[in-house]
Amino acid sequence: MLQASGLLRPEAAQPGPPFPDADLMHVLDLLPADERARLEEIRAVLQRDVRPLTPAFWNREEFPFDLLPRLAELGLGRLQTDGSSRLFTGLAYSEVARADVSLSALVGIHNELVVGMISELGSEEQRERWLPGLESFTSLGAFALTEPEHGSDIAGGLATSATRDGDGWVLRGAKRWIGAGTIADFALVWARDTADGAIKAFIVETDRPGFAATKIENKIGLRIMQNADIVLDEVRIPDSNLLPGATAFCQANDLLRDSRAWVGWQAAGIQLAAFEIARAYALERFQFGKPLAAFQLVQQQLSEILGNAQASLSLMVGIARIQEAGQLEMVQSAMAKATTTRLARSSVALGRSVLGGNGITTDYEMAKLFGDAEVLYTYEGTYEINSLIVARAVTGKSAFV
Ligand SMILES: Cc1cc2nc3c(=O)[nH]c(=O)nc-3n(C[C@H](O)[C@H](O)[C@H](O)COP(=O)(O)OP(=O)(O)OC[C@H]3O[C@@H](n4cnc5c(N)ncnc54)[C@H](O)[C@@H]3O)c2cc1C
Repeated sequence: MLQASGLLRPEAAQPGPPFPDADLMHVLDLLPADERARLEEIRAVLQRDVRPLTPAFWNREEFPFDLLPRLAELGLGRLQTDGSSRLFTGLAYSEVARADVSLSALVGIHNELVVGMISELGSEEQRERWLPGLESFTSLGAFALTEPEHGSDIAGGLATSATRDGDGWVLRGAKRWIGAGTIADFALVWARDTADGAIKAFIVETDRPGFAATKIENKIGLRIMQNADIVLDEVRIPDSNLLPGATAFCQANDLLRDSRAWVGWQAAGIQLAAFEIARAYALERFQFGKPLAAFQLVQQQLSEILGNAQASLSLMVGIARIQEAGQLEMVQSAMAKATTTRLARSSVALGRSVLGGNGITTDYEMAKLFGDAEVLYTYEGTYEINSLIVARAVTGKSAFV
């Protein structure tokens, strides 16, 4: 019988041979021995200590602060700076998503858009001040690009302004959907310089007068991640808070190219979780005197989820290969992001169906994945916008700007 709590434990979700971890493509074999051992440890700890705790936090829309030291011990705060290969980093993102998608959003944004941005575009002083705390998750940052009136058209429409004033800057405007906005120590705010019209980025400490962050409530996915509406009401910052390398929107685009690839890894991870939960349920739940797993239609659904997951994972292995070679361009990461999140949405819908009525309550985890997949489909550029980026690259015709 299913557990009384209704929550399938990781061990229940891995019923044994011949493919206990669903790695049909032997992706782990591509890692050198040290990275493989590290990844296996990350997976084991996340499945044992983290995943079982997350549904309750998800239901309550609360952030599990006590888990941050655990994530730091696994080295998940310094994936950008510790010399890990792109394949290892991607698979680590995937493992976090397999345990909990909100935490994988925190880990991904943290590494790709906060640590990555400060280490690549920040000054020496900014790196010294912020990176040690970030790497150990004792500091948190937020990436503040989207605005209430500008989402898909943010590149041309960005309205938050930065005005030079004496030896500092004054920021005015608003940001929306900003991950960790209510709990971060600072936000990396993209704003338009009123003098030259260029888009620049600034470190804005969240305790500065004029900075206000309000939690966005009642989300249907990523409920553990604390997304915020941010108001910048004449926030004054010193000139040393300007990131010297962030002088145009193309630098934001470089970051988004990499972070879109990260979402592809999330999409692979969520599908592995969906497969494991659906398989375990289908093996344990009996109808008509047989386990669901013995019915042909259910087998087809499990097979499709697994095929989607493996197609996503294999695509992401290819992305890691070209990323490692310094050849990743926006067209490839947009294609990977759009394709894997489309498959993820389909996989969690199939998984939800396999669980019947129990797929409707988060007590059985699948409904949590079902909501989380919607966010993967939409953030870091919607499915439609990423599809249009790919089509623009292969036709030479822009259909959206
Ligand atoms: C949970 C969550 C977390 C997020 N975290 C962050 C964060 O940490 N930092 C940050 O800066 N942002 C964040 N975002 C913002 C996210 O990147 C945007 O929501 C996304 O880019 C879409 O913008 P929008 O919501 O304004 O939708 P809109 O741009 O208003 O789009 C609405 C719909 O219209 C479609 N559409 C728009 N223009 C076109 C077009 N030209 N052709 C065809 N279709 C079009 C879109 O595809 C979409 O279906 C987050 C969003 C969510 C939901």
